[in-house]
Amino acid sequence: MAKFYTSLNQIKGDLRSGEVTVRGLVKNYLDQIKRNTHLNAFNEVFEHEALVRAAEVDSRLELGTAGKLAGMVIAIKDNICYKGHKVSASSKILDGFTSIYSSTIVERLLAEDAIIIGRCNCDEFAMGATNESSYYGPVKNYADNTRVSGGSSGGSAVAVQSNMCHAAIGTDTGGSVRQPASFCGVIGFKPTYGRISRHGIIAYASSFDQAGPITHSVEDAALLLEVLAGRDEYDSTLSSKEVTSFSTELKEPGKKRIAYLQESISSPGVDPEIKAALSEYIDKLRADGHTVKPISFEYLDYLVPTYYILATAEASSNLARYDGVHYGYRSPNATDLQSTYKRSRSEGFGKEVKRRIMLGTFVLSAGYYDAYYAKAQKTRRLIREKTESILEEYDFILTPTAPEPAFAIGKEEKDPVVTYLSDIFTVQASLAGVPAISLPAGNNSKGLPLGLQLLTRQFEEQELLNFSKYFLEL
Ligand code: GLN
Repeated sequence: MAKFYTSLNQIKGDLRSGEVTVRGLVKNYLDQIKRNTHLNAFNEVFEHEALVRAAEVDSRLELGTAGKLAGMVIAIKDNICYKGHKVSASSKILDGFTSIYSSTIVERLLAEDAIIIGRCNCDEFAMGATNESSYYGPVKNYADNTRVSGGSSGGSAVAVQSNMCHAAIGTDTGGSVRQPASFCGVIGFKPTYGRISRHGIIAYASSFDQAGPITHSVEDAALLLEVLAGRDEYDSTLSSKEVTSFSTELKEPGKKRIAYLQESISSPGVDPEIKAALSEYIDKLRADGHTVKPISFEYLDYLVPTYYILATAEASSNLARYDGVHYGYRSPNATDLQSTYKRSRSEGFGKEVKRRIMLGTFVLSAGYYDAYYAKAQKTRRLIREKTESILEEYDFILTPTAPEPAFAIGKEEKDPVVTYLSDIFTVQASLAGVPAISLPAGNNSKGLPLGLQLLTRQFEEQELLNFSKYFLEL
């Protein structure tokens, strides 16, 4: 197997010494992808194009004109548009659809000479936590092929985990970068809402959606944030906050105040080995001189319902555009306009997406709007304010990323709410719009990766990254 690099800096060292070329790296990743097609991580591999671009980057490296990401081979989640390439959101309704423009993310990656090696499998329209809602089937976890990858950016996480690429870009609406990263033993980073342009990302729930890197090192996460973040005339929700050089400004964090959720240790719903990992880190942090205190979050029981009311409401509106006319699949059984809409949507969307469109339409309907949607908006505000007030007193909130390690494939819950509840720890940062990162915290006794999550204040990604780097070295 090809050499396993944990950071772009290591690759750059080997490129400089002539030990590897970018083309050689791409070839190695392509071989690894071919050896592992059974994992189902990619919906499409851009094999020829990646090799051609690699040769171009090699010559720019020789000339000294290469960009910051030269040597970084990246996979993108299949809901990120790349001009002239297919994009499907892993849905039948978009199967065969080609992007007519590139997302800002893709443009910025390419401008810095990253190589995009393919588009990764995900839950259909990023709705899910197991990657099992994909039209193209589930993604298998590299650590245990009978287990799920997590979701919705499951293919992206497995591609990084199994060294099929160096890093990946996923999207996170309620945990979809962080949770699969934790199931796969890699880093998943969701920046502050409004840091990275959503232009050219297939929308799920627009007031939550945020792209983020999946990497092996904090340095790479920082570097990708600095390349991707910042003003974009195509996304008016983007912050105009200055984008600093996150990767070169990584430094010792100093002594911090950290809160952890009491319930993540006391609740019977959290796996005992995850509790043990969390307790171990709490002890290490205390021993190293940080202040670590338990807190209770009074809105804990409201996190998941609030997220699912708002996310499905937004999804029902965002997915109205897939009507059999504008995009993708059109039912061959349609006879008129009405049946074109009905049949194309009924045949084109999968079960989970339909469930969410119906739920979202219900909570927005005239008779129920105040009882559900309006109330959830108010609850979201309370959750955000409470999260912010905790973060005035503490620098970070520490939680498990997920209550359990990777589930068995096919263990479909009869009640979808049981699966939704597994998002309990990730949706808080999404509702509050604050940055959060999932960090690998060893494996359990079955060899399955575990992840812990840190949250901090809006736009304080530098502090979060500094602390994350230190945390991984504890
Ligand atoms: N599991 C959550 C959901 O199904 C989060 C998905 C996401 O972040 N895209 O909505």
